[in-house]
Amino acid sequence: MKKAVLVTGGAGYIGSHTTLALAIEGYHVVILDDFSQSQTVDLPWAEVMHGDIADVVLLNIIFKRYEIQAVFHFAAFIEVGESVKRPRSFYDNNVSKTATLLAVMLDHDVRRIIFSSSCAVYGAPQYVPMDEFHPTAPVSPYGRTKLAVEFMLQDYARAYGLGYASLRYFNASGAQWEHGLGEQHTPETHLIPLLLDAITQGREVYIFGDDYATLDGTCVRDYVHVRDLAQAHVLAFKQLLNKSESLVINVGTGVGHSVREVLAVTEHVCRRAAKVQVMPRRLGDAPVLVSNTQRMQEIFCWQPEHSDLMTIVTSAYAWHQQRRQERQALHVTL
Ligand code: UDP
Repeated sequence: MKKAVLVTGGAGYIGSHTTLALAIEGYHVVILDDFSQSQTVDLPWAEVMHGDIADVVLLNIIFKRYEIQAVFHFAAFIEVGESVKRPRSFYDNNVSKTATLLAVMLDHDVRRIIFSSSCAVYGAPQYVPMDEFHPTAPVSPYGRTKLAVEFMLQDYARAYGLGYASLRYFNASGAQWEHGLGEQHTPETHLIPLLLDAITQGREVYIFGDDYATLDGTCVRDYVHVRDLAQAHVLAFKQLLNKSESLVINVGTGVGHSVREVLAVTEHVCRRAAKVQVMPRRLGDAPVLVSNTQRMQEIFCWQPEHSDLMTIVTSAYAWHQQRRQERQALHVTL
């Protein structure tokens, strides 16, 4: 049987970059994605299966066909506001379906999983930078679904010898446009793609609150380039292969940038001034979210290589322009 890694949600934003990183390392990558949340991307370095992550028949076929070394589990609903309005579908998609996936994995004796978690499991920060010992008190159903899966993994590790790495991401950002990969959510709620869209089209950009207790009054976030994030998954996988010890680990840079700082860099990259409107604070936004990176450095000897803000925004801009040109070309053809 051929060895492979299975990546659920591998056509999504972080998933697709991780499949590329895995393929570059020489792994045979099988993607399982229902394409409900992801753009139709070209992923020639992977084998793409179209389907639901809780489709037991399909999962059985995959696990019988390949010797799956590990499952990278990205498939999930991620929009925080939506999770408040539709918690049922979030619990169904993010928790129940994960339980099904884990059950089939165990049936086939597949006992390694790299889970796409989030700093949203911490909730409102009690101190920053936040380490992995920070209390977990998620404020949104989204964050709670991620924490629920972490609990599941912990219990399965104890009872069934599952080895897991739960990666708590801070703000994934940037693109690898040269491989046709970048950020694209529907609806888009993330700062950098929204700024790029608005500035390049001469529309207003919105700053959600400028009266926070931060240096310039706007929220501070830890932006990590998706390519660095992808590499962290490869390292977590190798760690699980070598030592079966499970781990929970933050993936961020330890450096925070305010909304105004991100805006200034984006204006510079677009060579255009933004029309700015300050809006009320967005519900549930923490003033500062920055990762303590000590564990990441100690366990993985990991340093982000592409996560300076200029590199992040420049790559996101290139991807944004590429897509714009593609859309224009399509329009001309039609
Ligand atoms: N934000 C903003 N204007 C926007 C979108 C986001 O001011 O149009 C702010 C948001 O309030 C937060 C930061 O930018 O403080 C990062 O938001 P994003 O949604 O990208 O990531 P989050 O940290 O919420 O996961």
